[in-house]
Amino acid sequence: SVLRGGGTSTEAVVATIAYLEDCPLFNAGKGAVFSWEGRNELDASIMEGATLKAGAVAGVTTIRNPIRAARAVMENSPHVLLTGKGAGEYAREQGLTLVKNRYFFTRERYDQLKTLKKNSRKREQADNHGTVGCVALDQYGNLCAGTSTGGMTGKRYGRIGDTPVIGAGNYADNKTCAVSCTGHGEFFIRAGIARDVAARMEYGVVTLDQAAAGALAKLTAMGGTGGFIALDAKGNITMPFNTSGMFRGYIKSNGKKETAIFKP
Ligand code: ASP
Repeated sequence: SVLRGGGTSTEAVVATIAYLEDCPLFNAGKGAVFSWEGRNELDASIMEGATLKAGAVAGVTTIRNPIRAARAVMENSPHVLLTGKGAGEYAREQGLTLVKNRYFFTRERYDQLKTLKKNSRKREQADNHGTVGCVALDQYGNLCAGTSTGGMTGKRYGRIGDTPVIGAGNYADNKTCAVSCTGHGEFFIRAGIARDVAARMEYGVVTLDQAAAGALAKLTAMGGTGGFIALDAKGNITMPFNTSGMFRGYIKSNGKKETAIFKP
């Protein structure tokens, strides 16, 4: 409805992700997974395809909607990535809503940490599902990508994943595509997955589908698990993953829409 009303892809991405951050079912904002110390530490980023401007926050603990903070960094600061306390201070200066860390608490996520600590599940098998992402193309021809997450259950020592790393978990360029990733962040950082999809299109004559398949094959060959949603400047959509499922959906301007979890 943001796009139909003439809004920009940036506005649509922020509205969508903020909604998912407020919903306790997803691993972003309220409902985020817990760090080893039993805290919620959130990462988010956004990038605009028209200008290649980007903003991100990492390891934030008091910003209710990290995606709004990422947008504020992109639009109102000379920086790209702010972390921890400083990012919280910046969000306060920008007039964003701050909350106590316990606002993000959900019993289900806390139990997942307890299970992990009992060692009854390996860290790689821990339940981190529900990182949220959105890519959008508006009627002005501009792409935007955004991603937001609580990271991985039991993360330690200020660990930061791929989500706030531009080019790893998030990327957008009007010349090629917008990409938002989910999965085992360390692999996405090492493979530079989001930028890799765009680069394959930029440097070669390949379709979005081919670029996405190439990047996913690279991730798989490295032993990484996950997937991503991607949209090109012509409105083509692809949502590949190498796990058993990935919650995903799209809606086109003609009203055609679909949601899915498992492979077709
Ligand atoms: N990519 C996120 C991270 O590693 C987690 C996820 O998408 O499940 O922090």
